[in-house]
Amino acid sequence: MNFIYPRTPETHPLTWRMREDDQPVWLKEYQSKNGYVSIRKILKYMQHDEVVALIKNSGLRGRGGAGFFTGVKWSLMPSAYTMGDIRYLLCNADEMEPGTYKDRFLMERLPHLLIEGILIAGYAIQAVCSYIFLRYEYVNVSLYLLRAIQEAIDIGLIGTNILGSGFNFKIYLHTGAGRYICGEETALINSLEGKRPIPRAKPPFPATVGLWGKPTCINNVETLCNLPAIVEHGINWYKNISAKKSQDTGTKLMGFSGRVNNPGVWELPFGTSAREILEDYAGGMCAGLHLKAWQPGGASTAFFTYDHLDINMDFDTVSIAGSRLGTAIAMVVDHEMSMVSLVRNLEEFFARESCGWCTPCRDGLPWIVKLLMSLEEKTGHPGDVKILEELCFILGPGKTFCAHAPGAIEPLQSALKYFMEEFEEGISSDFIIKLRHTDDV
Ligand code: SF4
Repeated sequence: MNFIYPRTPETHPLTWRMREDDQPVWLKEYQSKNGYVSIRKILKYMQHDEVVALIKNSGLRGRGGAGFFTGVKWSLMPSAYTMGDIRYLLCNADEMEPGTYKDRFLMERLPHLLIEGILIAGYAIQAVCSYIFLRYEYVNVSLYLLRAIQEAIDIGLIGTNILGSGFNFKIYLHTGAGRYICGEETALINSLEGKRPIPRAKPPFPATVGLWGKPTCINNVETLCNLPAIVEHGINWYKNISAKKSQDTGTKLMGFSGRVNNPGVWELPFGTSAREILEDYAGGMCAGLHLKAWQPGGASTAFFTYDHLDINMDFDTVSIAGSRLGTAIAMVVDHEMSMVSLVRNLEEFFARESCGWCTPCRDGLPWIVKLLMSLEEKTGHPGDVKILEELCFILGPGKTFCAHAPGAIEPLQSALKYFMEEFEEGISSDFIIKLRHTDDV
């Protein structure tokens, strides 16, 4: 990350504590920078439901991709009277979206910020413990989190009767086994329980029947890292950070990767335009390259073109324009890249990561890959593009067991919409000649 502008607690609540030497901020330094002030404040002065109300009123939306309101999600948990005394908080740190690295960035630099966020969320929903479900490949992060958890235990912030408040809470680290589908909430729960990681039928939703049958809330890393600043500075400040540019509140880690001069991730107010991020922060396209297309928030988001560069990066604006904000870590496609090859590469990933539970996804995605491979090799049949369009419909929203397949076809569908000629160029000239010949006859 390149820190272009000075970072302050008021303007950069997620990243202002980060060190210039890229090293993690450990306990002593974290506390010297107002670390753990917020959890001490709520343990001393706030009831559980007051914290839920605060986050609800802040407008904080989940940063994992779906953008559901965090306080609303918390309030879906059954009341303490009806639920028994066991409920869980899961931290989704299974960041496997290709091209996305924002949660890793936070956990590598500020492990204690995540621990404090988990403590605040755990207190709010009255959880007994939290499991951090961490992507298998994040080896350094696992070491950093283990150290941060131990440091928090040592000063009495994790354990029994925390700071004399009567709140008992533990945090465990669990590393996944390397499956993309574990990012889906219920597949994550199955994996934690030692079962095959396939999504569960909903309802019941995890808020009522989750981990080991108990009420469970799942929050993303970046979402949880927002909590300490909201508690410390209040909701008016939080809402005002992006007020001039967007309805969404707070800041968001956003970035650009691909062949740009300065790929990276930056903490920015919602509503910053994609052009500003690309040109002012990512330094524009590399010399000699032109922007052809871009994905706003991960491999499963629909492509935009150059004409979309002036849109503001927030949940609603990106959605109205025809894609999803997703993780807000965008990827550029330059004019030298073939859309057919790129989409084939993405669909290979999604086909491999299908959990295989339902037929359209299990059989449809490999079929898409085969068709794209033949178009890539210029050996496609005349009906291949039509079949691809039909498969986009068959794998679309509401037709499969979870959102994996609908997400997988978003890049394909949008590439067909904007770059149809590249797909049609993959049809074998043999067939075109034969067809012309048949027409003549
Ligand atoms: S859509 Fe794909 S990932 Fe989701 S349940 Fe069906 S087979 Fe599994």
